[in-house]
Formats: sequence, C-alpha cells, structure tokens
Amino acid sequence: MKRRHFLTTTLAATLATPAFAAFEVQRSKAEWKAMLSDLEYAVMREEATEEAFSSPLNDITEPGIFHCKGCDQALYDSATKFKSGTGWPSFTAPLDNAIETKEDRSFLFQVRTECHCDRCGSHLGHIFDDGPPPTGKRHCLNGAALVFRPA
Ligand SMILES: [Zn+2]
Repeated sequence: MKRRHFLTTTLAATLATPAFAAFEVQRSKAEWKAMLSDLEYAVMREEATEEAFSSPLNDITEPGIFHCKGCDQALYDSATKFKSGTGWPSFTAPLDNAIETKEDRSFLFQVRTECHCDRCGSHLGHIFDDGPPPTGKRHCLNGAALVFRPA
C-alpha cells in the first residue's frame, strides 16, 4: 500500500514538472483518450513501444513528411528515413525544432535517449548512436505516434 502511494506521488510529481507543463498543446487525459486509440495512447502518453514490424509506416519510402499524431507538427522528412531492419520507422535526423529529448532510465542498467514532440509532448521513440551517415543517429520511432503526408 505504501509503495503504491509512493509510485503514484512520484508519477504525479513527474507530470507536474515545468518542462511538461510548458508544451504549447495541452490536453486533459480524457481529451487524449478521446482522440487516440488505446495503442496510440499507450505509446504517446505512457511511453509504451508498439510491436516491431506492426506499423504500416515502416515501408513508406516516398517523399513526404511524418507529422505528430497528437498535434500535427511536422517532425521527420522521409528523405532522412532509412531501412534499419528493426521493425520500427527509423530516421537519421528530425526536422528543425520538432522534437525534444530526455534521459530514459526505465530499462535497468541502460540509459536511453527518449524523444517526444516539442509541441504536445507526445512520446515518439528513442535515439541511438548506431545510425548511418550523415548523423550516425538512429531515431527509432513508433509509427503509432505518426501520420504520413505525401509531398
Ligand atoms: Zn505533437
């Protein structure tokens, strides 16, 4: 009982940090739930990861822009998309001023770089240092958080 209370309090404190509150697009939990599917909500608002090879966006190679499903902000250009073989849409770089990052220590013994939309705070995925040129970065994203708009 005590531990549960501690976790709830910690989560509430985390959600109330100024960084989170500073997002331009703010929605209540009920509003997010109403506009997103269960999977999208779990990924975007609770940092869940969709199943590998589950997103139809994996196979998209044509010119266009990937937007945030939470606020429609333009996030990634398909010119930076590459075949990573991981089963998740992967990019070498985001568009300017599109995303923010934070340290993610949810995996024991592993520090990952989490990335989210800088306009609405929705979780997108993680950034790794094993990507191809020119950046050497691999932005490993959840297709559930994205909408593709062909050029
Ligand atoms: Zn967004």
